Amino acid sequence: EPYAEFENEPLVDFTQDESREAMLAALEEVRDQFGREYALVINGRAIDTSKRLESANPSNKKEKLGHVSMATPAQATEAIDAARNAFKAWSETPADRRAELLELVAAEMRMRRYELAAWIVFEVGKPWAEADGDVAEAIDFCRYYAQRVRAMDDPRAVNIPGEENSYWYRPRGVAVVISPWNFPLAILTGMTTAALATGNTVVMKPAEQSSIIAFKLMQIFQNAGIPDGVVNYLPGVGEEVGPELVGSPDVDLIAFTGSKDVGLAINATAADTDDRQTSVKQVIAEMGGKNAILIDEDADLDEAVVGVMESAFGYAGQKCSACSRAIVIGDVYDAFIERLVEATKSLHIGPAEESGTQVGPVIDKEALAKIQSYIEFADEINEPTYRADVKSLAKQGHFIGPHIYTEVAPEDRIAQEEIFGPVLAVIRAGDIDEAIEIANNTKFALTAGIFSRSPVNLRKAASRLQAGNIYLNRGITGALVNRQPFGGYHMSGIGSKAGGPDYLLQFVVPVNVTENT
Ligand code: GLU
Repeated sequence: EPYAEFENEPLVDFTQDESREAMLAALEEVRDQFGREYALVINGRAIDTSKRLESANPSNKKEKLGHVSMATPAQATEAIDAARNAFKAWSETPADRRAELLELVAAEMRMRRYELAAWIVFEVGKPWAEADGDVAEAIDFCRYYAQRVRAMDDPRAVNIPGEENSYWYRPRGVAVVISPWNFPLAILTGMTTAALATGNTVVMKPAEQSSIIAFKLMQIFQNAGIPDGVVNYLPGVGEEVGPELVGSPDVDLIAFTGSKDVGLAINATAADTDDRQTSVKQVIAEMGGKNAILIDEDADLDEAVVGVMESAFGYAGQKCSACSRAIVIGDVYDAFIERLVEATKSLHIGPAEESGTQVGPVIDKEALAKIQSYIEFADEINEPTYRADVKSLAKQGHFIGPHIYTEVAPEDRIAQEEIFGPVLAVIRAGDIDEAIEIANNTKFALTAGIFSRSPVNLRKAASRLQAGNIYLNRGITGALVNRQPFGGYHMSGIGSKAGGPDYLLQFVVPVNVTENT
């Protein structure tokens, strides 16, 4: 029943002239809008602040996208108050009506599909197909949570002679949503619509780097007719508004996706209960990964090479789900590396707005510096077997090409820490048991995969790999709503999977009423 029929939004096929032209037109239209100003939205009102952030194109640093108001801690409190005041009416709105509004949100996204993808291309440097996938996933989240909340809106009755029991769900209250820039529309939409569907009100604090896309979402919520105060748009600097949002006694739930360090800090702050507080905060956190793909001796190398390459270098390795370790079993090692390097050489690296680009830039200067420091560290141990040359692109944008390091020891830093960039560590293993052991030897447990023709080894991997999402004979990124509910455990996250049957349960409290009849 939880896997009831659900159709994922089809992806745009950019090999069709029509789609390519539509995307080019959208990029131009969006370019014409550069330089605008984006205000906070609290209780339906636009509020300009004196502090602004200028959003820029990671592919072309000189290209400025617009000016976004940055909230103060006092405005964070105002947004929480607005959400609190809107809670009563929204929580009493029938679930079916809330679901309908989310379906209207999905419908507008579908209409503005190319425009939204174009904003994603420009603001976070995501190549076309992946930007389109981001919008498709956002549409899926709206429709899926609408469907799920309707299914939940059916109190469970347990009646025996003389006693009637009814069990159902209530929203928790005010939710703070803190979202990342790497899936700037999909993940923000997912966390926010889960809270809204279940009757909570929301303060959205998007990643600084993707504040304009978040504004577009705010606008779509308003256009759909979601009442003032039910969702508030609070762009700001994490270090400035974060403590207020997470520490406020008036917040009931925090949904976060981002790095392990920030997630753990949020969890600690949220646990610190103050006297004014009436509830213990619920924290849902999707954090990092150090995901491995195993390549078995009998693997189909054509498939393994493509699977590893796309998982490692898609969106320049900036997905939590990305493959950052390839663990190769036995004699296939040399052949696998040779073919992986050949295939990686052919990847087209360029500005995200160009149609042929397969690997774009990384998000910003800080990310680039962090990735480079890992590379310097790795270079000292061993020069990479392949390093893409991006010198001329690097003058324009935050480019760093794919790096493949081989003969990496399982304990090396690049095999242990999340780099969030296009850096792959290739590790040798003697057999499947050793490969699984190496794969499991990190703090994370998000995604993992294996390419193998051996049913025994596939089963071993499925039962023993420590990861929330395990993929057999395919790449390990690109989870789809409902088909691959997404999320990990250990240091990869707290809570249940996004786009899965249990996700909404985290946004509600169950209540039981017993009547003596
Ligand atoms: N759901 C995405 C995937 O499966 C990853 C999300 C993330 O990076 O947080 O690739």
